[in-house]
Amino acid sequence: MDCLFCKIINGDIPSSKVYEDDKVLAFNDIEPQAPVHILIIPKEHIASAAEINAGNSGLVAHVFEVAAKIAKEKNLDGFRIVNNCGDSAGQTVKHIHFHLMSGREFTWPAG
Ligand code: AMP
Ligand code: ZN
Repeated sequence: MDCLFCKIINGDIPSSKVYEDDKVLAFNDIEPQAPVHILIIPKEHIASAAEINAGNSGLVAHVFEVAAKIAKEKNLDGFRIVNNCGDSAGQTVKHIHFHLMSGREFTWPAG
């Protein structure tokens, strides 16, 4: 499958790895929008949050568990987790991913 993040998982495209286990991979975003900007992705190819169901939702829980672990390890003082789902929400890579961002002030509502 021609998926950028599957290629990163397979090691075909290099990444700056932050965390890995059997279910997820976390790596630094190539175009960081905050001092800390890490992408956390399930290793299973799921196109977007719109594809989450009873069979795979455990992976999302695990992503949040990993986010908390990374935040603790890096002593993050507050963080934002973002998921863009679909073109209108700004999703550019069609493999579900969660942006873990920290190290600056964030505004709300998000643009
Ligand atoms: P989204 O716009 O929510 O789909 O997020 C996709 C993210 O992937 C963007 O923040 C990009 O900067 C990031 N990205 C694209 N290519 C790479 C790459 N090769 N390594 C790391 N991050 C990437
Ligand atoms: Zn993929």
